[in-house]
Amino acid sequence: MFLNMKKIVNMENKPKVYWAPPTEIAALPNTAKNMVTNNLVKTRFILDKILDNINSGDKVGVKVHVGEAQNTRYLRPDYVREVIETIKSKGAIPTLIETQGRGNNIEYICINDDYTICVGHRKKATDHLKIAHLHGYIESITGAPLHFIDGNEGIDRKIVKINNGIHFKEISVAKGLFDFDKLVVISHFKGHPLAGFGGALKQLGMGCVTKHNKFLAHFSDYIVVNSQKCNLSRCNQECIESCPVGAIEIRNSFAKINSSICFGCFNCTQRCPVKRAIKIPSRRDNNEFVERLIDNASAVLSFGPEKIRYINFAFEIPLMCDCVSNASVPVVPDLGIFGSSDPVAIDKACVDAEINAPGLPFLDRNGEWTNPVELGVEKFKALNPIVDTTWQFDAAVKNGIGTIDYELVKI
Ligand code: SF4
Ligand code: SF4
Repeated sequence: MFLNMKKIVNMENKPKVYWAPPTEIAALPNTAKNMVTNNLVKTRFILDKILDNINSGDKVGVKVHVGEAQNTRYLRPDYVREVIETIKSKGAIPTLIETQGRGNNIEYICINDDYTICVGHRKKATDHLKIAHLHGYIESITGAPLHFIDGNEGIDRKIVKINNGIHFKEISVAKGLFDFDKLVVISHFKGHPLAGFGGALKQLGMGCVTKHNKFLAHFSDYIVVNSQKCNLSRCNQECIESCPVGAIEIRNSFAKINSSICFGCFNCTQRCPVKRAIKIPSRRDNNEFVERLIDNASAVLSFGPEKIRYINFAFEIPLMCDCVSNASVPVVPDLGIFGSSDPVAIDKACVDAEINAPGLPFLDRNGEWTNPVELGVEKFKALNPIVDTTWQFDAAVKNGIGTIDYELVKI
């Protein structure tokens, strides 16, 4: 077995991470050995261990990520169906939940004379739903309806105050989250271009907050009008008309943006005809992006940490996230399925497994196959040096939202 996890003893107080590895299920009876590598069977084994907190009649939100248009590495809905069926078997009522992406605008990209593709579908519920359907996230397949907990535009919020945040004191969490009694967070474990990797923490910190805090994590400043450039004689105040939340008004002969309600959609920057009248902030440093992501996660946990369970599917693990259109090829072989009640421990177990797996040949930007990254080396950083998987854990420990020490329990 290529995975070489740290064996830990006497860890009664440490969170358990249940792990169904890719090739064995020790618990299966002989009659079922032909199912030995079946990941759907393993999913049930993991769920049996972690969904002990769900009771009959509970309304259960099941957080998913349906994947960006043209992405082909997102999590297959078959696995989500297993989660839904298990929740129903306990007499509880599951609903798939998702939030709008900051994402790209819908864009038609001409591949050649005969072929145009369309990307960027996750900014509004109407378009997001279309891509959810295309990727099989519909009730007839998953067994549960899909509900957007931050509304059509991604701005329906509940302000949550936090004590231990590194950058924030309050966060805009998706309002609809609080309509549920319990939460199950389903994550596809993979790389991420800014955060290093995406797992349970990212599902909390980006997947359960509104666009206000998604924007404040990604960008270094608020969007503001440059009073020196804004010129009412050269426009028809297009900025005001373009703002979906009425954040812009004219004061003292130039436009002013109310940053407490602006959620960074960039409509105004695209519609204003005067060059640089509206300042576009630069992207944040990646480490600070991660710290803000974890501050967000800390606010989402106001839902009640004991009411949340996590399952990470470490299959088809590319360098890039499900939120991009081209996630490229896997960087390591499948690592299996992980389940826990601790979002930090489960992600740490996935990263440890990734480090301790052999790398796969990787396609570089020139389309050349590179030598695989060695076993024992963290692959996402090795292939994309501007990220570091330790940042999420450092920030999570500072925020006090979980532990990197865990007991690995092999199923
Ligand atoms: S920001 Fe642009 S569109 Fe808005 S008032 Fe100023 S110049 Fe006109
Ligand atoms: S970016 Fe501009 S259009 Fe979008 S919410 Fe902010 S002020 Fe309104």
